Amino acid sequence: MRQLIRGRTLSFHADPVTTENAYSYHEDGAIIVSDGLIEAIGDYADLRQADMPEIDHRPHLILPGFIDTHIHFPQVQVVASWGAQLLDWLNTYTFPEESRFSQQGHAPEMAEHFLNLLLAHGTTTAVAFCSSHKQSAEALFSAAHARNMAMIAGKVMMDRNAPEGVLDTPQSGYDDSKALIEKWHGTGRQRYAITPRFAITSTPQQMAMTGQLVREHPDCHIQTHLSENLDEIAFTLSLYPEARDYLDIYETYGLLSDKLLLGHSIHLEPREIARMAETGSRAVFCPTSNLFLGSGLFDEAGLRKAGVVSGIATDIGGGTSYSMLQTLNEGYKILQLRGQKLHPFAAFHWATRGNAVALGMEDQIGTLAPGSAADLVVLDSRATPAMALRMARAETLAEELFVLQIMGDDRSVAQTYVAGQAML
Ligand SMILES: [Zn+2]
Repeated sequence: MRQLIRGRTLSFHADPVTTENAYSYHEDGAIIVSDGLIEAIGDYADLRQADMPEIDHRPHLILPGFIDTHIHFPQVQVVASWGAQLLDWLNTYTFPEESRFSQQGHAPEMAEHFLNLLLAHGTTTAVAFCSSHKQSAEALFSAAHARNMAMIAGKVMMDRNAPEGVLDTPQSGYDDSKALIEKWHGTGRQRYAITPRFAITSTPQQMAMTGQLVREHPDCHIQTHLSENLDEIAFTLSLYPEARDYLDIYETYGLLSDKLLLGHSIHLEPREIARMAETGSRAVFCPTSNLFLGSGLFDEAGLRKAGVVSGIATDIGGGTSYSMLQTLNEGYKILQLRGQKLHPFAAFHWATRGNAVALGMEDQIGTLAPGSAADLVVLDSRATPAMALRMARAETLAEELFVLQIMGDDRSVAQTYVAGQAML
């Protein structure tokens, strides 16, 4: 099955912060999709073929689908819970909600909602924490596989400092993760992320078994949290008194590599930053969550200067929007408070190819290069009356992207494609 998708195409092949001419843009562009992959991209006039079916999205922009590098699947009904910072928020709202995922039928139902929401917001790949229950990851992988969405997910491992209903044990966490890896890692577009929630909720025994899983499955990602909140850091260090710092706990158990995604990474010591750079460990910026929970201000430029690669993510349900556009909006404001500037080209690169680079998957997703999956988002920069009015004064592509970044959300997503299939 081949088809041509026409519109204003924009794709990055390098990071615009460090490289001039980092993107390619076709005002009357076209993408030829064949068997779910991008076969060719260019000017419509060059690519049109008499007998090929066409879909015309002009005047909308066509970009690679957004990638969300940190999100919690079992928190779809936790978003917008009032009045707490991280540890209170987990105990009051999040752990009770995640315990529901042990109930028959709940996880499959929520998985459908979760994927529908991602697609409505133009997100085609996510790196997701599931609950501690094996069936939560099972439900998410099944639903994503049925839609052919590239999902990276893992069952959370947590064996202390939370209610009984969300705890596993070092052995059951290991066994369930192992079974999920064997069933789902590499099945279609599914990939497994080994997922210790964070050091507070894992005993040293569980961390040791996590390290064993990582050694046995070096091609799996690893996701966890690091230095989100000052009380969290103090509690963590009290539980691991031998650790030089928070990162040292993960380092001790052999988790540091370019497969490791460290959500938040806000309040870091110089040694931690240096070790993240040396080992290739990724920081993941979660702006709406960091503002909502009052956690702190991510230092994008500082980490970049030190050589740390960063992703950007929603962190639903500490985060407040599924929209990567709204995530870039709040990211812009946090970096303003840091005296840093997030240019719209850098922002759109980050949510597409930049996040793919953070995952080591830029040859498969995050760009419109031939051979990549045809995972696309079609963006309408005049989706609301206020945006249309503002767009009447926009003269450049950068201005248009900034309008989308600041004013856009799911209303700006005109269509989302997964492996060449229209999903909305
Ligand atoms: Zn998180």
